[in-house]
Amino acid sequence: SADHHAAAVDEYLEQRLGLRIDALEAGREHAHNAGLPRIEVSPAQGKFLQLLVEITGARRVLEIGTLGGYSTSWLAKGVGESGTVISCEFEPLHASIARENLQRAGLSERVEIKLGAAQGSMESLISRKSAPFDLIFIDADKRNNVRYLELAMDLARPGTVVVLDNVVRSGAILDAVADHGTQEADVRGVQDSLQWLRDDPRVSATALQTVGAKGWDGFALARVL
Ligand code: SAM
Repeated sequence: SADHHAAAVDEYLEQRLGLRIDALEAGREHAHNAGLPRIEVSPAQGKFLQLLVEITGARRVLEIGTLGGYSTSWLAKGVGESGTVISCEFEPLHASIARENLQRAGLSERVEIKLGAAQGSMESLISRKSAPFDLIFIDADKRNNVRYLELAMDLARPGTVVVLDNVVRSGAILDAVADHGTQEADVRGVQDSLQWLRDDPRVSATALQTVGAKGWDGFALARVL
């Protein structure tokens, strides 16, 4: 199938471009062995995040959804030694595996993992008048995307880049919301967040589809005005 082919091409690209970095692959393995779901970004997407951080010169990055710290590691590589990544995760096991992985990759000095529901962590950053973030990567429970986007506006400055992952979901984004199950809540969450990106005057946004190791999906990219 085309999906299978795209996955093989991704593997080829990962090899040719050297995107499987030992220190980060070890962390992925550790996470999988600990039973964490294999839902992290692909190596090519991870490197894309690092490059986005570097291209924009971002020094302060906020991530919503840490899992085992794989995307966190790429973001942390991007901000460099004097940069900061704050990543929000509410599963204690995920957070502790991520901390171990970041430690082993030599990136823990520049990363702070906030354990707890992301909404609360973002609210406390806002109430403590956190310095604005240069880039915000939203990759957690999709049903709360709009909430995260709203909170992100209070943690941003003009020019802040916002990346919203998994906006295509193998085309499920086109589905009408049939009932109130988990899948439907997440599809609705993504649909609502795309509408929000169009309607909110504080952002300018687009979305791109992707194929490869993660199947058919895509991400939205926004700039805070
Ligand atoms: N960004 C990670 C990567 O690419 O390596 C993958 C993140 S995974 C798709 C989503 C993560 O968000 C999971 O670890 C999940 O436990 C976490 N999560 C889900 N709902 C959350 C919430 N309300 N607050 C904080 N974390 C949440």
